[in-house]
Amino acid sequence: MFEGLTGRLGDIFDKLRRRGALTEEDVSAAMREVRVALLEADVALPVVKQFVAQVKERAVGQEVLRSISPGQQVIKIVHDNLVEMLGEGVEINLNAAAPVPILMVGLQGSGKTTSTAKIALRLKTKERKKVLMASLDVRRPAAQEQLKVLGEQVGVATLPIVPGQDPIAIAKRALETGRLEGYDVVMLDTAGRLSIDEELMAEVAAVRDATKPAETLLVADAMTGQDAVTVATNFNDKVGITGIMLTRIDGDARGGAALSMRQITGKPIKLLGTGEKIDELEPFHPDRIAGRILGMGDVVSLVEKAVETIDKEDAEKLARKMEKGGFDLDDMAMQMKQLRKMGGMSGLMGMLPGIGKIKDQMKDANIDDGMIKRQEAIISSMTKAERKTPDIIKASRRKRIAAGSGTSVQEVNKLLKQFETMRGMMKQVQKLGKKGLMRQGLQ
Ligand code: GDP
Repeated sequence: MFEGLTGRLGDIFDKLRRRGALTEEDVSAAMREVRVALLEADVALPVVKQFVAQVKERAVGQEVLRSISPGQQVIKIVHDNLVEMLGEGVEINLNAAAPVPILMVGLQGSGKTTSTAKIALRLKTKERKKVLMASLDVRRPAAQEQLKVLGEQVGVATLPIVPGQDPIAIAKRALETGRLEGYDVVMLDTAGRLSIDEELMAEVAAVRDATKPAETLLVADAMTGQDAVTVATNFNDKVGITGIMLTRIDGDARGGAALSMRQITGKPIKLLGTGEKIDELEPFHPDRIAGRILGMGDVVSLVEKAVETIDKEDAEKLARKMEKGGFDLDDMAMQMKQLRKMGGMSGLMGMLPGIGKIKDQMKDANIDDGMIKRQEAIISSMTKAERKTPDIIKASRRKRIAAGSGTSVQEVNKLLKQFETMRGMMKQVQKLGKKGLMRQGLQ
């Protein structure tokens, strides 16, 4: 989502970094460019103005630290201000008597129902909460059914549908069921409209009064840019929200909504929707987002994601094999599978520091997710013996494998070469390990 902005800021800071000492004019010139970059990213004007003024003030008043260059210092100030602008990361508030009511509000199509199920799944798996979901949307015929289907998908209970009940009656029944059946959290998915109207606001406010939610989360679509900020302001004025879930940040939105939300509404973004799949949800970490925007990469997210996705058993098996020096094509395939689970090359690249520019070059060199899929196809077209002992794969076998996987002999050759390189590297690591990485205290 922040690619455009990241690229622009990267260029501005590259220039700054190359200067030995910065004059006030250097900082001013850079800030003029930052201002344009933020406006182009669709950040609201008052937010941009305040941001630039603050950075300038801090940059000029700063003592120049000896250990870092002036350019780096400005980047640090911009980073800290971005974090401030995004607000501190705040968890979903579950501090209330069980069942804790969470009210989901927003416009139709913002991803409200999907997000309700995503949050329910997260509360269930991460917080071990017993969650009940209820749809209060009695207008859209399939709405209650949609939530029920999602509930079945993620293994979260939904309130049985009783035709003819109004939203408040459903909400009360949900809380009552929650109490009687020992639920920790009751999520109430309210009806949306295509645009804001009085009737919608009145209905949501009435549900709020009847249920006294611990959390009223606005679901807003990042792709709608400044409109999302307007929607948030409206809901906040009329209903009072406690936090925001910003969806579709996986699209090509310019990031302005995410950057302006907090400043304009005063309410924190708590969660991000990162895709259509039900587990595509991330808590909002302002410092990491700021790092991502400035192209410093998001190493913390990367590491966390790796820990979450990599199958521990697979990893251990691989480690044992590496110790014995028996790395084969099955292991290579396993690594590819894990890479794919972590969001593929494109997902990973976005999180690595300084990688923004290399990304395009890699695209040119055809190193992409499609290539990984083709390579996996090549390996699965081999026989078991071939995967264990790749040295037996001579010309005729290569032809057969290429035909079987719908690729070319060249691609098969390339994969085998890559495998050789990997195996060589593994051997070196292994030797190093024996020589005593540990003794040198490097582990
Ligand atoms: P509602 O009308 O607000 O309840 O919206 P839905 O939950 O029915 O979602 C509308 C569409 O947006 C569905 O196709 C969802 O799969 C999709 N969607 C929801 N959240 C995200 C997200 O974070 N990223 C992407 N790409 N799609 C999303």
